[in-house]
Amino acid sequence: MRAKVLDGRPVADQIKKEVAQQVRRLSEQHRVTPRLVAVLVGDDDASAVYVRNKVRACAEVGIESEQIALPAATTTNDLLGIIGQLNENHDVDGILVQLPLPKQIDEASIIEAVDSAKDVDGFHPSNVGLLAMGRPRFVPCTPAGIIELLERNQIEIAGAHACVVGRSQIVGRPVASLLLQRHATVTICHSKTRDLPAVTRQADILVAAIGRPAFIRGDYIKPGATVIDVGVNKFTEVREVRSMFGDEADKRIESIQKRGYTLVGDVHPAEADQVAGQRTPVPGGVGLLTVAMLMKNTLQAAKWRRGV
Ligand code: NAP
Repeated sequence: MRAKVLDGRPVADQIKKEVAQQVRRLSEQHRVTPRLVAVLVGDDDASAVYVRNKVRACAEVGIESEQIALPAATTTNDLLGIIGQLNENHDVDGILVQLPLPKQIDEASIIEAVDSAKDVDGFHPSNVGLLAMGRPRFVPCTPAGIIELLERNQIEIAGAHACVVGRSQIVGRPVASLLLQRHATVTICHSKTRDLPAVTRQADILVAAIGRPAFIRGDYIKPGATVIDVGVNKFTEVREVRSMFGDEADKRIESIQKRGYTLVGDVHPAEADQVAGQRTPVPGGVGLLTVAMLMKNTLQAAKWRRGV
């Protein structure tokens, strides 16, 4: 048996197509064009790539976007000043502050400063609270994307045992809330969970959001389960790549030789293929959905704020 691959591309493309249609309608009927501002502080390469992908997706769907790049030495007060201006600016529908921020910046106070009506990342405490109450307004993009991927692939959530490994604010906790809201029986695991494989082996839907390459092995997975791999880890060990990637190994080794790394999820792909019913690939799975859901949230912000 080989697990079916749950490709993120067609689902992400379909969501972006739907957003683009609605953006066009908004412009024709109400002369409104949604506008997203992305704030990037410092010169972290990965963050710069993420912001560039988000700005590119905006152009694809017809959302206006602007990137504000600030120096690494920016203070909490500097950033609060900029957030204040963006909150006041009526033409701005969505504000995205790319995380992580440099160490000297108080991340929590920045997240709280963003107008919750423009909080397209869904990190503001009032949006987190609404989600926890089962009344979601803005939902963080990666968890929202995971739900779209499951639903659009007709994977039944209601009644399923869903196990989420990881309890971060960005992925683990919100995805657990969304699964619970859709009537799954949810178990949340973390670094203190005893006998993790015995718990994860009970899951019909297993979500891995850990940040450790190939951590979830075959014996963590219930036969036939749906495995959602959220992890994005840079991996450099050529020797292990062959056992992890089978047919794909040559391409992966070439990537390590060219770029210095290949991207590996939190799930061991070759072992998961032997046991799971279906699994998301890395790259090409959940990551693509994250950007698509940011577009959807920005469109939604524009509609709510402008009452259309
Ligand atoms: P995080 O904030 O570092 O949280 C990791 C979680 O994993 C924590 O809750 C931690 O438990 C748990 N964990 C760590 N080691 C464990 C172990 N040995 N056994 C069980 N649980 C363990 O990470 P995150 O922000 O949620 O991100 C997780 C991964 O997803 C990363 O690879 C990240 O790059 C990726 N990611 C991808 C996207 C995307 O769009 N594809 C978006 C966001 C994140 P404790 O709470 O007990 O420490």
